[in-house]
Formats: sequence, structure tokens, C-alpha cells
Amino acid sequence: MKNEKIYDVLIVGAGPSGSNTAISFKNLDPNLNIGIIDKAIFPRDKSCGDAIGPGVINALKRFNNEHILDDEPQVISTSLFGPDDIGIQNYIPKVKNKDDSVVYVIPRYELDNRIFNIAKELNVESYENTRFVKYENTEDENILRVEVQDSENQKTSIYTKLLVGADGANSRVRKSLNLKQNSDIHKAIAIRAYIDSPNYIEIFKERTLMFEINVSALKGYAWAFPSKGDLINIGIGMPLNLFKKDNMDINQMLDQFVNTLESKGVIVENIRMEKSYMLPFASSRPKLAHDKVALVGDAGSMINPMSGEGIFYGMEAGYLLAKETFTSLDGTDLNKNIKRYEKALNKRFGKHFLSCALARLVLQSPFMTKRLLKIASIDKNTINFVVELLFDEARLTLKETFLLSAKFILPFKTLRFFTKSPSFSL
Ligand SMILES: Cc1cc2nc3c(=O)[nH]c(=O)nc-3n(C[C@H](O)[C@H](O)[C@H](O)COP(=O)(O)OP(=O)(O)OC[C@H]3O[C@@H](n4cnc5c(N)ncnc54)[C@H](O)[C@@H]3O)c2cc1C
Repeated sequence: MKNEKIYDVLIVGAGPSGSNTAISFKNLDPNLNIGIIDKAIFPRDKSCGDAIGPGVINALKRFNNEHILDDEPQVISTSLFGPDDIGIQNYIPKVKNKDDSVVYVIPRYELDNRIFNIAKELNVESYENTRFVKYENTEDENILRVEVQDSENQKTSIYTKLLVGADGANSRVRKSLNLKQNSDIHKAIAIRAYIDSPNYIEIFKERTLMFEINVSALKGYAWAFPSKGDLINIGIGMPLNLFKKDNMDINQMLDQFVNTLESKGVIVENIRMEKSYMLPFASSRPKLAHDKVALVGDAGSMINPMSGEGIFYGMEAGYLLAKETFTSLDGTDLNKNIKRYEKALNKRFGKHFLSCALARLVLQSPFMTKRLLKIASIDKNTINFVVELLFDEARLTLKETFLLSAKFILPFKTLRFFTKSPSFSL
């Protein structure tokens, strides 16, 4: 180890969680030595719906990096469809905790590269085509040795005071900590594809995120998200336990959704780049804080169990980790502060994740989905709450639970009598 360079922080994975961890450390203290490794060469593709909402915009604004969204078209509404073709369209409401109530749909091939480039511009040392293999303690109790491997299987060592696992849903850092993957009930499988559609916006009357709940994917949902020009990201996903139990075929589910889109008049051309992957839900998070090691993003199971959104939570976890630990990388307080990071994350998102997990269970029932969409079609508060679960940090309070339960139980006519602010039905 003599004369070897020792990083203050070495991050495994240059996706949004890893890159934003690096960006946050460097902004909090530009003198820190930060390294980041990724097994891929960027730009690289990642199976995703490509939708980023108010949370990611805020995370970028924190360090004045929102310029990477310049020239991207904004999506301003959601269209939710359920069984029997019940549908409602709603503008993304002004969310409580964020500045902007818009969504962007940017292929991850581009978005992740833009975020990674911000880290590179801050002099974060990056090693692409470099795979994490394992780590171990050294004779210096403050330093870890990390073994990495290039594409020719050439192994080398990198030394660091803090190791961050941001290496996604199949995290090898997580495995090195002897932590199991999420069980099937706390995981989803989803497939993404790109299509060209010259008339998507015309059919839905505006640039809208289309969700179809419990139809092409029973107990799951399908999506169509408009990106630039004619490019639309489509996909479908469902909880892994149900997918296996019903012996489903993910490609067939996607075909079925394409048929649904066509039946609504959407022209679907040039289906390509189909790619499926796992989503580890935040309803079961592993321990994130370890001896000189922390997990962020998918590696630490941070995906919203209702919406499938994971980019925001992973980026925010990277910031919280940097904020709690950047002053203690040299001291004895590091492990204490890694634990403070885990506590801060749980405090901020614990109840929100729980609320979203409950909402997911409710929406697994076609009956409840229909009922919810019916209620939402006459009651703007309900649809706003659903959209805030999707795009903000909403949580179910006792009052909220009571009100929602009452709306589910009350006869529809009575409910209509009491509600004055309808959202509009499709
Ligand atoms: C089909 C689908 C649709 C989704 N839709 C959305 C959506 O619309 N919006 C949203 O917010 N979220 C969505 N998600 C979730 C989102 O993709 C993830 O939450 C997000 O990618 C997490 O970012 P990350 O940086 O933690 O991990 P990743 O983006 O997976 O990045 C991990 C990085 O680690 C690298 N890596 C892996 N192993 C190693 C190793 N051993 N050594 C070195 N490097 C390694 C990989 O190459 C990769 O670059 C979706 C997920 C799926 C599967």
C-alpha cells in the first residue's frame, strides 16, 4: 500500500446514484479525492421508463446543474387508465416539496452520461470498463483495499477510506456485504422498448405520461412516456412473485400493450431495444450503513414500490451520504456518520415508501383500481394525492387514510354529492 494513492471516497457505479454521490462530495468539499468506477463504457443504455420528475430537477438544481435539461420537452400531465377503459387525465399538481411540477423523458443513454460528465468536470477520477470484484480491510484500520478488474481480466487494487456501492439492482458490493437480494415479493420485473409514434400527442391531446393499471399487466402497470420528437418509451412491469406464480411471458405482455395502444389509435412504428430488468422495491431495504461502506440507489433497494421511480431516491441518497460524512472521512466518526446517513434517509422517505407499498397492494386489485379511478374522476383531491405519491414525497397520515377509506366505502352517488371539484375523464 506504500506510495499508493488513497481515495477519500471510491464509488462503484456511475449511474445517477453514483454520479450524484460524487457530485455532492465535490461540491461540499472540492479538495476531496473522489474516484468512481463502472464496468461499462459511457454513454451506456439502461432499461428504464426514462421519466424524471420534480425530485430529480431539484437534486440537479441544488448544485446548479439543471442546465443539462435545457431544450428537453416538458411533460405536464398524467393519463391513468384502468380496467373497462376507465381513464382520467390530470395535470401534475404543484407538489409540496419541490419547485417544478413537470416531468422530462430523456433516454438514459443520454441522461446518465450528462450527469456522469458533471462529476468528471469536477475532477472526479473515473475508471470505465472497470469492474468491482471485492474489497477487504488493510493493516491500516481506516483504509480499504478494493480489487477491480478490466475487460482483459487484469486485476488491480484501489485504496479508499469510504467505499460506496452504487452498482445497481444486482450490486456486487451488496453481495460482498453478505446481504441478500430482495425477495420476489419486494421486487418487480419490467421490460422497456422504444417506438416511434407520429400521432401519440395528437391522440392524447397533449404531452402526457400514460399509465395503464391492471389491464395488459394484471396486478401491474404498463406505460407510454413521450420523449423528444416521435420517440416514445413504452414498457410494462409487475411484481416478480406474481409474474412467476402466473407463469407470465414479459414479451407477450408488451405485445398486448402495443395492441392496446393501437386500439386507442396510436400509430406504433419501429419497436426496438426491448430490454427487461429487475426493480428492487424500497418496501424491503437492506442495512445501508456498514464499516467504511455504504449503499445508495438500487444497490440499497430504493425504488418507489408504487411508481417504479428510482432515479430521484438514489440521487438524493448520494447527497444525504455526502452531507453526513464529508467532514469525517479522516476521523474516527466516519462509521457513526454513515449510520447518520441511513437514519436521515429513513426519516425522510420511510413513511413515504410505506404509503406507496400500501397503495401498490390496493392497486393490485382490479376492483380497487376501477373504484379509485372512478373516485378520482369526480374528486380532484384523490387524484392529486395519487399523483403526489407518484411524483412527490406524500405519505398516508391517519386523516388521509380515514378520508380515503370513507371515499371507497361511500356509495358513488353520495360521494358525487359531496365533491365539488372534478378532474376530467377521458
Ligand atoms: C424497466 C424499468 C423502468 C424504470 N423506469 C423508471 C423511470 O421511469 N423513472 C425512474 O426514476 N426510475 C425508473 N426505473 C428505476 C431506475 O432505472 C433505477 O432506480 C435507477 O437506474 C437507479 O440508479 P442507480 O445509479 O442506483 O443504478 P444504475 O442506473 O443501475 O447504475 C448502476 C451502475 O453500476 C454499474 N455496475 C454494476 N455492477 C458493477 C460492478 N461490479 N463494477 C463496476 N460497475 C458496476 C453499471 O454498469 C451501472 O452503470 C426503472 C427501472 C426499470 C428496470
